Amino acid sequence: MLLMKKTAHIPIDPRALAVLHAIEAEKESAWFVGGCVRDALIGRCAHDFDIATSARWDRVVALFSSRGCRVVEAGSAHGSVGVIYDELLVEVTTYRIEAAYGDKRRPDSVSFVDDIELDLARRDFCMNAIAYHPERGILDPFGGTEDIAEQRIRAVGDPALRFMEDPLRIMRALRFCSQLGFSLDEATDKALVECAAELNDVAKERVFSELSKLICSPYEEKVLARYANVLETVLEGIEALAKQPSPFKNTCKNMLEHAAHVVACVPEDAALRFAALFSHMAPHAEQNRKDECHAAVFARQRLRALKAPRKLIERVCALVANRSALVEPDRLGVSLLVAANNGDVRFVRDLLTLKIAQAAACGEREREYELRHASEILDELVANRKPLSRSELALSGNDLIAAGMTPGPSIAAMLDALLLEVIRETVANERTALLELASRIEPPTEGKAGNIFEKILKIRLTENPERSNIQIRA
Ligand code: ATP
Ligand code: MG
Repeated sequence: MLLMKKTAHIPIDPRALAVLHAIEAEKESAWFVGGCVRDALIGRCAHDFDIATSARWDRVVALFSSRGCRVVEAGSAHGSVGVIYDELLVEVTTYRIEAAYGDKRRPDSVSFVDDIELDLARRDFCMNAIAYHPERGILDPFGGTEDIAEQRIRAVGDPALRFMEDPLRIMRALRFCSQLGFSLDEATDKALVECAAELNDVAKERVFSELSKLICSPYEEKVLARYANVLETVLEGIEALAKQPSPFKNTCKNMLEHAAHVVACVPEDAALRFAALFSHMAPHAEQNRKDECHAAVFARQRLRALKAPRKLIERVCALVANRSALVEPDRLGVSLLVAANNGDVRFVRDLLTLKIAQAAACGEREREYELRHASEILDELVANRKPLSRSELALSGNDLIAAGMTPGPSIAAMLDALLLEVIRETVANERTALLELASRIEPPTEGKAGNIFEKILKIRLTENPERSNIQIRA
């Protein structure tokens, strides 16, 4: 990897450069710092820009407000101001040093200083403690550029002290390993493992945010396998997976490696990735098929403990709970699956993605092929606007009531019965044809809405026993 010269020029968004120059025009000093410098040196696209400056935060606010920029002052107590310059958010922070992190969230106090090098010394890792100026070049007092060249993550100063000061840095270290494919240097690695228990005191939302980035990154397999003992503190149950042998036809030595491999086989989407992981984290689910929802219960408990966003928890749990859903790779089978899930195409698409990854990771080629085919059928059904939910029928519950049906649960059941016939293509999706059919069939009286589709799916599978191999194991 290229080792940058001190005078090297690195690409920075022109709007972020304009912010830096505006600060300097006020006779203050300013440098780019943090992730944008690190990522530019690695050759990755920076997604946010941080500037460290001698200017006090209130001066920064006044300067950019007077230029008509929107300014976000939420972090001003710590010297941080967000400047929105031509739609780009640039975080501008006064050079500072920090006192201890008493509440493990934020430093007890910060002191503003005039020296960029002092500011760099409070940063977590040497690769994140590099400053860059478009004219003065790179300022790298801790050897961060060398670390980047050697793909190494090293704490600034004594690693144990730095992890004790703010244990979130443990998660940040692992998240950077997972994003960049870098390794921890020996002393940082040792301290990280020794300080793992300190993570218990960190605000759960902060931990979850890092864990989520870790799991949605390209090197997660390597990190989960190597640091399950550390992650156990925040994700109880993960270490036990390493002790379970993998029963699948692949090269994974244990269930942890297998689970991490399935995670790698789904796109970098938090719900899919957590679902892939939690699908493997239900003790004994494999032996006890009646206990299929155990994994979903487990996932909910763990994600709630981490204060994960509610919507994400619901998506993960629904995927985990349905991971063994039956899928027949034909138009009727896929349509029924969507209808059984209230017409939620996105959910079924995610479910198929999860099952495809599972089959691929297990080396089950035929099943993988069938599921991929089912996924193509789903795309085709959507492209052809085939009705897959009650709301897509050419007639509504009100039409049925107007035609004389008694309002109540039988309306939903009748709509499902009609949808089933539309899916089977025994009737066209036209209002008069549907009304006529509704007058001829008995309104179904029992069962929860949507169950009719599941029932038919099950019947199809019983009639077609060779299809039972489509079922995915937990
Ligand atoms: P990315 O934005 O790609 O996630 P980043 O390194 O820019 O990575 P930020 O959270 O944006 O991470 O923080 C910007 C910089 O602030 C970091 O590069 C680092 O120098 C410093 N920093 C952030 N969090 C900490 C921390 N907990 N302890 C010490 N320094 C930190
Ligand atoms: Mg950043």
